[in-house]
Amino acid sequence: MLKKVANWGNFPVVNANIYSFNRLNHLRQTKVPFIVRGLGRSYGDASLSDNIIDGTKNNHFLEFDEQTGLLTCEGGVSLEEILDIFVPRGWFLPVTPGTKFVTVAGAISSDVHGKNHHCEGSFHKHVIWMEVELPTGKIVECSPQKNVDLFRAICGGMGLCGIIKKAKFYLKKIETAYIKQKTYKAKNLDEMLEYFEQSKNATYTVAWMDCLARGKSLGRGILFTGEHATLEDLKSTKFYKNPLSIKKKIKFNVPFYFPSFVLNPLTVKLFNFLVYNSHIGKIKESIVDYDKFFYPLDSIHNWNRIYGKKGFVQYQFVLPEENGYEGTKKIIQEIAKNKMGSFLVVFKLFGNPDKIPQKGSKNGKSVSCPLSFPEEGYTLALDFPVEKKLPEFLEVLDQIVQEYGGRLYLAKDSRMSKEFFYSTYPVEEFLKLKRKFDPENILKSKQSERLGIYA
Ligand SMILES: Cc1cc2nc3c(=O)[nH]c(=O)nc-3n(C[C@H](O)[C@H](O)[C@H](O)COP(=O)(O)OP(=O)(O)OC[C@H]3O[C@@H](n4cnc5c(N)ncnc54)[C@H](O)[C@@H]3O)c2cc1C
Repeated sequence: MLKKVANWGNFPVVNANIYSFNRLNHLRQTKVPFIVRGLGRSYGDASLSDNIIDGTKNNHFLEFDEQTGLLTCEGGVSLEEILDIFVPRGWFLPVTPGTKFVTVAGAISSDVHGKNHHCEGSFHKHVIWMEVELPTGKIVECSPQKNVDLFRAICGGMGLCGIIKKAKFYLKKIETAYIKQKTYKAKNLDEMLEYFEQSKNATYTVAWMDCLARGKSLGRGILFTGEHATLEDLKSTKFYKNPLSIKKKIKFNVPFYFPSFVLNPLTVKLFNFLVYNSHIGKIKESIVDYDKFFYPLDSIHNWNRIYGKKGFVQYQFVLPEENGYEGTKKIIQEIAKNKMGSFLVVFKLFGNPDKIPQKGSKNGKSVSCPLSFPEEGYTLALDFPVEKKLPEFLEVLDQIVQEYGGRLYLAKDSRMSKEFFYSTYPVEEFLKLKRKFDPENILKSKQSERLGIYA
C-alpha cells in the first residue's frame, strides 16, 4: 500500500511502498529500485524513493568490549539506544550529530559530523568494520584495510552502493554524563572567529549566529565549547552522587503545523534578539548534562512543524578555510539584505579530515570517502521555510558557495541541481564505485535521481 513519506524538512513528500528488511530478497529478484531509510532525520529526499526499505527493525546489539569500547551492532540501532545503555556504563559516542534520533547506518551513510569535527573527525573515522549487503544479495565485509573501496563507497555514500547490516566502531570513555560548558558572546563575526581561535583546543565547539544582524553586528552570536566533565569537576555539585545518570526531562510537543504567517522576519528578529540578550556577560561557565549540550532540540518533539505544512529546507554549506571568512560574510550579508531570517543558524569550523587518524587503518592512514561532506573550513547550516521566493534566493547563495569553492551537505539537501553537485563534489570518483557495487542502479533515491548519480 502506498504511504505518504517525508523526511525531517517535510519537503518533499512522496508516495512510497514501504517494505520491511526481510523483503529485500523479493525486491532484488524483481529488480525494483529502492533505497533504505533509517529514522528519516535527513532533511530532504536522501532516503526517499518509490520503494523504501525500513531499516529501523534491523536493530540488535551484538557485542561490546568493556576494555576497548568497541561496539558491534546492527545498522538500525539508534544513537539514543546506544546512549541509554552505554552512558551509565561510562561510554559515549565518538561523534554525534545534533539529534540522537538517527540510526547507526544513517550516521555512516551521511558520514555525520559533530561539534568535535576539528579534532575527532566525522563518524567514519571511528568505524573499523562493516557487514554490507550488495544489491546482488552478496554479503561482503569491509574495513579501512579490507575491501577498502566498499568502505569508501558506503561511508558518506548515501545508501547508494550497499546496505549496512552491521557495524563495529569505538565508543569513548567518559567519567560522567556531564559537560563543562563555556559560552562566549561574540559581538560580530570577527570576534566570533577570535573566540574560535582561542578555543581551538576545546573538544567541542559550535556557535549559534544571529543571521539578521547587520552592519557592525554582522555575524554576532554565541559560541559554545565543551569538555566531558571529570568526577573531580562534579565534586562540588549535586551531580556528584550519580555522575553517570541524568534526569529525564519533560518533553514538549508541537501538536500541529504552525500557520505560515507565524514565522516571518519580525518573529525571527525577536527570537534572535531574545537568544542573544539572554546571555549576560561575555564568558560564562557551567556544568550541563549531555542531553542539554548535544541535543537541545530533541526535547521538543516535532519541532519541524513550526515551519508549517509546506515544510522547510536546511541549507548547509562548507567553504574552504582560505577564503571561507569572505564567503561566509557575503552569504550572511545576502540573508540579512533579503530578510530571509532563519531561527536555526549553526556555525562551526571543520578540521582537516586528512589530518585526523582513521581508526583500524595502518598507522591511522586516512581513507578518503568521495561523498563525505566535511572539509577544512567554515560551515553554516540555516533553515528556511518553503515559500515562493526561496528557490531563486538559494540559487544566489549557491553562486557564492561555488565562487568560494564550497559545497552543500547531501544529508540536508532537497533541491541542489545536478550541475552544481557535479561541479562541487568528486562525482566521477564515486561513480566508479557505484559501477563496481551497483552497476544496475538498484539502489536509487529521489535525491540520486535528481543529482544524476547513476552507474
Ligand atoms: C535536528 C537535527 C540535527 C542534525 N544535526 C546534524 C549534525 O550536527 N551533523 C550531521 O552530520 N548531521 C546532522 N543531522 C542530519 C542527520 O544526522 C543525518 O541526516 C543522518 O543521516 C540521519 O540518519 P537517519 O537514521 O535518520 O537516516 P535517514 O535520514 O533515513 O537516511 C539518511 C541516509 O542514510 C541511508 N541509510 C539509512 N539506512 C541505511 C542502511 N541500513 N544502509 C545503507 N544506507 C542507509 C539512506 O539511504 C540515506 O541516504 C541532523 C538532523 C536533524 C534532524
